[in-house]
Amino acid sequence: MKVVVTRQIPEVGIELLKQAGFETIVSSKDGVLTQDELKEFVKGADAILSLLTDKIDASVLDSAGPQLKVVANYAVGYDNINIDDCKAKNVIATNTPGVLTETVAEHTIGLLFAVAQNISQADKYTREGKFMGWGPMLFLGTDVRNKTIGIIGLGRIGLEIVKRLKDGFGINFIYYDLKRNEQAEKEFGVQFVSLEDLMKNSDFVSIHVPLTPETKHLIGEKELRLMKKTAYLINTSRGAVIEEAALVKVLQERVIAGAGLDVYENEPKLSEGLAQLDNVVLLPHIASASFDTRSKMSEMAAQNIVAVLGGQAPINPIV
Ligand code: NAD
Repeated sequence: MKVVVTRQIPEVGIELLKQAGFETIVSSKDGVLTQDELKEFVKGADAILSLLTDKIDASVLDSAGPQLKVVANYAVGYDNINIDDCKAKNVIATNTPGVLTETVAEHTIGLLFAVAQNISQADKYTREGKFMGWGPMLFLGTDVRNKTIGIIGLGRIGLEIVKRLKDGFGINFIYYDLKRNEQAEKEFGVQFVSLEDLMKNSDFVSIHVPLTPETKHLIGEKELRLMKKTAYLINTSRGAVIEEAALVKVLQERVIAGAGLDVYENEPKLSEGLAQLDNVVLLPHIASASFDTRSKMSEMAAQNIVAVLGGQAPINPIV
């Protein structure tokens, strides 16, 4: 059986596929396959190991052929896959939940501190030779302790952030989600609020919902204008949850204090004006990028393929 892997990923997963006896072909292109290249590359595959940068829809599934059984996404988010198309063609889709939770939570916390304390701006300033000695007013930032953090989407990653910060920083956590998590409320003292109240009362808003038709532009100009002038917005989920042009506008107008972004609405393109702002920290979608975690994602995606092609149930089916 033939497995295609759309980009070089940590070797552990590739080895697993080879050991299982599959003909395993890894794309040799140093970058994302174009849609035409992707369609050509998947031809004759029984399984596709896809990345979040691959748009998997009916045309790609058709191009693979009727023998295709599984698309294993190397990500927990699966907004790049048309699940209805997979269902219609009896193709199983899987993802990699859980193995990246702690890394993304740690990364989000790092980004939050970077934004609050001007870390990347100060680093740039120092490298540029502008540091002329200690200054009483140099890069004054915001303390994180005792502040209110609003989590939008208290799922695996959102809750992990709460667990990591709840002791030691005196943070007041509020959250908004489709569903309440009463156990987390009891255990960690997080408080469920409306989206409007979360935007109004948070010193830091951190977004952790998946990108779905319902969450696209969940945070638009109206929601951004509810935020405190001193508040920061952090996004390590998916770019299109925020209306990026509106975010640029409120940042330019100093309606909010700043933002830390790992993801963008039209990646890798940034909205006009975003990169010129001095009150943002911008990262290239690296929240899960640790050696250990990426290896676990590689292994998990491969294990799903091994299971399905071996006639067993997938380990991490999507819905
Ligand atoms: P999860 O499914 O455990 O949590 C998502 C939470 O969002 C759930 O509690 C869910 O109820 C809530 N939610 C869903 N739709 C909602 C809506 N319309 N309104 C309010 N709440 C809603 O997922 P997770 O493992 O915590 O991951 C969250 C997202 O983070 C992923 O979907 C992915 O897109 C993103 N992510 C990004 C990176 C990165 O590299 N930047 C890495 C991993 C995950």
